[in-house]
Amino acid sequence: MPHRHLIAANWKMNGLKDHIPVARAIAEGSRDFHARVALFPPATLLPRLADALAGTQVILGGQDCHHADSGPFTGDISAAMLKDAGASMILLGHSERRHGHLEPCALVAKKAVAALKAGLEPIICIGETLDQRQQGLTRQVLTRQLTDSLPDDLNGARFHVSYEPVWAIGTGLIATDAQILEAFALIREFLNRRFRIQHEPQLLYGGSVNGSNAATLLALEGVSGALVGGASLKAETFLPIIAAAHTAPV
Ligand code: PEP
Repeated sequence: MPHRHLIAANWKMNGLKDHIPVARAIAEGSRDFHARVALFPPATLLPRLADALAGTQVILGGQDCHHADSGPFTGDISAAMLKDAGASMILLGHSERRHGHLEPCALVAKKAVAALKAGLEPIICIGETLDQRQQGLTRQVLTRQLTDSLPDDLNGARFHVSYEPVWAIGTGLIATDAQILEAFALIREFLNRRFRIQHEPQLLYGGSVNGSNAATLLALEGVSGALVGGASLKAETFLPIIAAAHTAPV
């Protein structure tokens, strides 16, 4: 098991330069907590946050990238550009990309290759929809997403997986302990079978995590982090989650 929880803030398409003090407050407020804290702001804020957070422990990441190094891809951002702007991690395969932008698993895998090439540590997101869960397809969907979104290049590399049931994202619903434990056991078993693990991947849960449910969640066997959307936009709501990680067993 890794020795500190990874608590990641996904700011999605939120944040102008007046949000920089929030990042500073998160860095300051989390300084004495035993946790890895990562912020995934919109790409426009990355260079400013790299300056504002220089000298702190906070890790910066991108929310997505194009799979190519450069070229005629209007509006897209390469992994190397994110790295150049201050990122050292990247979210890939978030459900808002998979469902909102119809990104297939094979594309997520190509992006993961590009991220590794640029020196970014990927967090690859997977998760079933409510329909899929209600039809009893959760295990099948997670296995397919893992098989097709995680390229062989991850062998021996640093990467992480976030389990985010689509129906729990931004809804206030959180998966039950049993549902999380089942998904995490499946993911762990898959990773151990498929990859030569040199750096223990952190397994995150995402979906309506907040200061009230974080302690229970982070104490679950095998849960080594959280990916947080809504509650990460303010220091007052994000810091309690980092505080919960501080006291949760790893
Ligand atoms: C997310 O977007 O990854 C997420 C988990 O969002 P929320 O915490 O708002 O459910």
